[in-house]
Amino acid sequence: MKKAVFLDRDGTINADEHGYINKPDDLHLYPFAAESIFKLNQMGYLVFVVTNQAGVAYGYFQIEDVEKINAKMVNDLAKGDAKVDEIFYSPYHVDGKIESFNIQHQDRKPDIGMFLKAKDKYHFNTKESFVIGDRYSDIGFGKNAGLRTILIRSGSGENEFLQKRNETKYKPDFVVKDLSVAVKLIEELENK
Ligand SMILES: [Mg+2]
Repeated sequence: MKKAVFLDRDGTINADEHGYINKPDDLHLYPFAAESIFKLNQMGYLVFVVTNQAGVAYGYFQIEDVEKINAKMVNDLAKGDAKVDEIFYSPYHVDGKIESFNIQHQDRKPDIGMFLKAKDKYHFNTKESFVIGDRYSDIGFGKNAGLRTILIRSGSGENEFLQKRNETKYKPDFVVKDLSVAVKLIEELENK
């Protein structure tokens, strides 16, 4: 049975230093992103991107912008032969002001609506699958879904780890520097 890796987008695949990414030009892949995802492809993992995009609910940008940014990501990753099987995004936030997106929704991490959609469509072994992300909401998503969890310290990860590790109920299985190290870790676990 196949296995899957769920990747957060901002701060995991691309740099996230300037707040919301609201146009394609704002998206800059980390230099190791394509190579890391290519390795996961080679190892036979399904690769899914799961990204909270509450900026839609807040009115900072629109669904079409999210889709254009995602398309740029896919295109840039393809230059390094890396392939994403599917991208899931959540435009919801309960404090938003745009009608129909300003709700509590199970697609918003740490809830697992996006996981359930992937699970429904693709067949993979959850227990042997991973989530990699830079926030505790990613770790919560993984815990709630039954995935193995890797917190990375790129993007918001360093701050999240330093400020929230004692208060959060979500304890990651591993904490590593960035996506490239996380993928090396998955390789090592495979070879055990
Ligand atoms: Mg992130």
